[in-house]
Amino acid sequence: MNSRVLVISYHYVRGKENIPHPGIHPVTPELFLHQIEKLRSHYPIITPDQFESWMNGAPPATSSVLLTYDDGLRDHLHAAAELERLGLRGAFFVCSRPALEGRALPVHKVHWLRAHTPPEDFLHQFSSLLPANWQAVLASPPADVQKAATETYQFDAPEHQVLKYLINFTLPYECVDDVTTRMLPAHGLDEEEFCRRTYLSRDEIRAMAERGHLIGCHGHLHQPFSRFDHAGLLADIDTNKRFLQDLGITPSWLAYPYGSEWSLPSDTRRFIAGAGIRAAFTYDRGWNTPQVPHDRLRRIDCNEIDAHLTSTTTIS
Ligand SMILES: [Zn+2]
Repeated sequence: MNSRVLVISYHYVRGKENIPHPGIHPVTPELFLHQIEKLRSHYPIITPDQFESWMNGAPPATSSVLLTYDDGLRDHLHAAAELERLGLRGAFFVCSRPALEGRALPVHKVHWLRAHTPPEDFLHQFSSLLPANWQAVLASPPADVQKAATETYQFDAPEHQVLKYLINFTLPYECVDDVTTRMLPAHGLDEEEFCRRTYLSRDEIRAMAERGHLIGCHGHLHQPFSRFDHAGLLADIDTNKRFLQDLGITPSWLAYPYGSEWSLPSDTRRFIAGAGIRAAFTYDRGWNTPQVPHDRLRRIDCNEIDAHLTSTTTIS
């Protein structure tokens, strides 16, 4: 009997009609439904409760799939409703900064601004708002930054490669946060309006939990956990947990922001013990087996479903 679970991760689930430039790469609602049906034709989709039982040693009868959704996006209202229509439930990992502070997560402001600004304008506007020391790095990047940027973003022009790399891996959180906040008004948006349009409200999160979905942590700030010291990270999670507890939710699952090795806490086992988390999901690719530790559960992106269905059908 097989005992393995493939965990799928979703972010943006929305139409592409209001996305004039590359920046947000959503799964369309049509593709989302197509993927669910395709998954269901191969494997049963289990609930978070069933996954918890599996973690505790009760194997599902066959290989199974679990659906998860990151970032607390408003897109997930539609996704959750579709799951309910099909008798399914998912796990939704939310950040608390938008609701508690009226401040967006920098990564979403970057995506949105890229999607609504011609690439040359984005480069110019973002660069001109950077502090002078970072403008100097952008104008004359160190060899290691240039090399890493070139390797990471092979299909972009050189100056775009470096800016993307700096935004995603090097610039301090506060710096990206500040620059993007100052770019929003040119689009007729302030930060609170951006949050209202982008993120689930408290009532919506509470209602999703009441309808049987699992609500878990994704950090307060959505800063890579590798950038915190241990105490700072526990404080970030504590804020995230207390936000959910105030909604009547007891969170015990977590998805690491970004989820790849570079972004994880240095000691994931110590982290989940300290944070009171029972299941923590990475982007280590592949199926979960009983041998996979609960501080480093595996997930794949929804764009990778086909590859994993193809490569594993013979195993199951
Ligand atoms: Zn995230």
